[in-house]
Formats: sequence, C-alpha cells, structure tokens
Amino acid sequence: MAHDTLTNAQMRDIEALVHPYTHAASLRQTGAHMIASGEGIYVTDEAGRRYVEGLAGLWCCGLGFGDAELVEAAQAQFSRLPYYHLFGGRTHEPAIELAEKLKELLPMEAARIFYGCSGSEANDSQIKLIWYMNNVLGRPEKKKILSRKRGYHGVTLATASLTGLPLNHEDFDLPLEFVRHLRCPHHWKEAEPGETEAEFSARLAAELEETILAEGPETVAAFIAEPVMGAGGVIVPPEGYFPAMQAVLRKYDVQMVADEVICGFGRTANWFGSETFSIAPNSMSMAKQLTGGYFPLSAVAMDRRMAEAVEEGASRNPALGHGFTYGGHPAGCAVALAALAIYERRDIVGHVRRVAPVFQARLRAAADHPLVGEARGAGLMGGLELSPEPGRPAAFAQPGKVGARLMEEMLARGVILRSLGDTLAFCPPMVITEAEIEEMMAPLPEALDATHAWAR
Ligand code: PLP
Repeated sequence: MAHDTLTNAQMRDIEALVHPYTHAASLRQTGAHMIASGEGIYVTDEAGRRYVEGLAGLWCCGLGFGDAELVEAAQAQFSRLPYYHLFGGRTHEPAIELAEKLKELLPMEAARIFYGCSGSEANDSQIKLIWYMNNVLGRPEKKKILSRKRGYHGVTLATASLTGLPLNHEDFDLPLEFVRHLRCPHHWKEAEPGETEAEFSARLAAELEETILAEGPETVAAFIAEPVMGAGGVIVPPEGYFPAMQAVLRKYDVQMVADEVICGFGRTANWFGSETFSIAPNSMSMAKQLTGGYFPLSAVAMDRRMAEAVEEGASRNPALGHGFTYGGHPAGCAVALAALAIYERRDIVGHVRRVAPVFQARLRAAADHPLVGEARGAGLMGGLELSPEPGRPAAFAQPGKVGARLMEEMLARGVILRSLGDTLAFCPPMVITEAEIEEMMAPLPEALDATHAWAR
C-alpha cells in the first residue's frame, strides 16, 4: 500500500504511537491494521473484513473475543469495587478466592500466590523472590538463572535477559550478567545425525550439569522454561526432556520455574503444560489465559520453601519491598475467576483433547509441501517452519522474509497468524470447533503455493 492511501486514522496512529514488535519503516508504508470488533474466534477490521484469529490475539484469548460472562464479571466487579490493592495488609475477596482456586487447580503444592499484571512482571517477580529467598536461606551467592536459547520470558530488563532471542538483546545492551542460556531443545535442528529424542534429552541434561558445575552449583539459583516454547517458534520438548533436566536440577538444589504464561489453562490439552511434559515445578508463572486475555493479570505460584522464605524476609525487613499497584486488581481477579469457572463448566480441557488431533493432523499434512521444513505442535499450539530445503533445517538468504510472506498470504485469505522468523505460529482460541479448524487451515495449501512461487 502506498503512503498516500493511508486512512486518516492510520496517519494519526503513525504519528502518535510506538508499536511493539513492528518494523517502523514498513509501517509508514502500509499503515497499521485496525481491528474494530470481535466475536467467537473471529475479529473484524475497520474495513469490515472478518478474520479467523489464529493466534488468539497474543496466545491469550482462549475463550474467544465475545464471552459475555467475562464481560459481566468485570462489569459487576467494577460496580462493586473498581480498584483496590494488596499493599500494607489490605485485601479483597476476589484476590483471596482466586488464589485459593489456583492452589486447588495447580499441578504443584502451591503454598502462596503473588499477583502481577503481565507475564513479564510474573517472571521478574520470580527472579526477585528467588534471590530474596536465597538471601533469607543464607546462600547469597546462589543467584544465577539458567534459561534457554529461543525461550521467551518477557521484556523487562531482567526478563528480556532470560529471553533467548537476539531481537530482545541487540541494541538494548542485554542480557544482564546473571543469566546463562542453555541449548534450545529443538530435536529437528539441534540433534546429531541419528540421535533419538531420548538420547538428545540425555545430552541436554548432561550439558546442564556441565554448566552448573562450571558456574559452581552454589551460584546457580534457578532454571526457567516454558513447557512448549511459544514466541521462540513453537518448540515442543523432546521425549524425556524435563524429567532428565529436573534430575540434574534436584541434585544441585536449582529451582525449577515453569513459565506457564502460554501453556497454562488448557492450551496443551491438560490444565497445565507441566502436566503434559512431566514437569514438577517449584514455582510457576501464569498470565494470558488466566483471564482469557480480557484483563491484564498474572500470578506467581510458589512452593512452601519459597513462600516461607519470602514470609521470613518480609518479617525481618520492615515489609516485603516488592509489589505492583495493579497486581491482584479486583476486576482482573473477578474475570479470572469467571474464566476458570468456564474452563471447568464447559470442560475446555476435554474440548481441546477432542479437537487438537484434528488441528495437528491438518498442520502435519502441510509437512509434505516443498516450502516446509517441519510441522510441529502440541494441543492447540502449532508451528510450521519453512525451509529452503524441504524437510531439512536450513536458513533462507534473508531470514524471516518468507515466513512473513506466508503470514500475509494467510491474512489475504482471512486468517490472522503470526510469523516468528520463518515459522508460522498457530494458537487459536481454545473454543474453536472442528469446522472452524477446517476454516482456519483450508487456505494453507494455496497460501504455501503462493509463497513458494514468490520465494523462487
Ligand atoms: N512468558 C511467556 C511464555 C510468554 O509467551 C510471554 C509473552 O508472550 C511472557 C512471558 C511475557 O508476558 P507479557 O507480554 O504479558 O509481559
């Protein structure tokens, strides 16, 4: 689109906003895509065109875009108590009720819940509270955090440091010194010829042990991981990966932090990705689908040791010197409680189990296309990685361009998706039906052909 075809609103947008994760010069040419409304798995833009939202916004709107119960829960809470906080010993019923409900649902013995407003705040709080814990436990050297290349944990100074993607580090003077990035557990790309998934997992666990020993176990505090890497390209762990990694972590008393910001609340066909991939976390971060994406709210769940240490630190000091103005916002907690009630009543996990095989089969059918390197996924998350060499990992001359083109070809055919480098990511609302999965996937062969023709 040429510059002079931009609408007035698009011009105003360019002059008024800085857009996250957007190529600024291109935006000046194309203008932003203005979304006006949403209903079910669909959103409609200002031009009146309806799209399947194949990424549930940013992996968050698991219940779609027009859930009346979530809206009513927010409205009712806004009328009753539109704001309150948890500082200085204040509290409110929705915050208590939600923490109790999470403790009941989580696949760990969660002793306490701490609220933030975003995934970044949850993971930032994890780092700070683990450091705080280790000071209370009398091991002030134990502060390094292990993360993984291609992992995504947020964009604050500390969490962007955990994130293992060059875009989040370059020109930001990151990562900070306390992070070590381990190898990405992507079997297709990283395995030796003939190495099975189980052998690859064992090698990664051995590398983890080498890293801990090289750094000094007394300096390594925690390992943070998403059950399935999302923004790094939808990377599903190889067989046996987390049990092998956790055996090493336990040996050196390194805390396992599960970043369930995307995987939590049904996405991988269990309530939590930790269940799908046999993770036994000491602490967990949750956000996104916690409120179905309708309100910014995040939560950190911590085990007894961490909770007791935080309580002790907050008793030794005049107070816990950490907390967010809007953490545990009553409207957010009310929306989260409504979302959890819907997940249970409508058996969203059971629904994902029923429809995920249809989605995964449709995705994997694309693996035969000459432009496709690998089709992968779990539950209602999928990634289609493109490659100049069919079925084999290889980099395009201009990384990211072909993936972006496929995203545009799908958009032109009525499906909003997101390209992560040359991987096209799928993460539709979990309420998607089989017929809607067909609708989302139907344009894919044609879009791949068009992209292939363009790329040659
Ligand atoms: N952790 C994971 C796994 C995520 O996918 C994200 C965001 O996509 C975050 C953390 C950061 O969340 P936020 O953007 O709410 O800060």
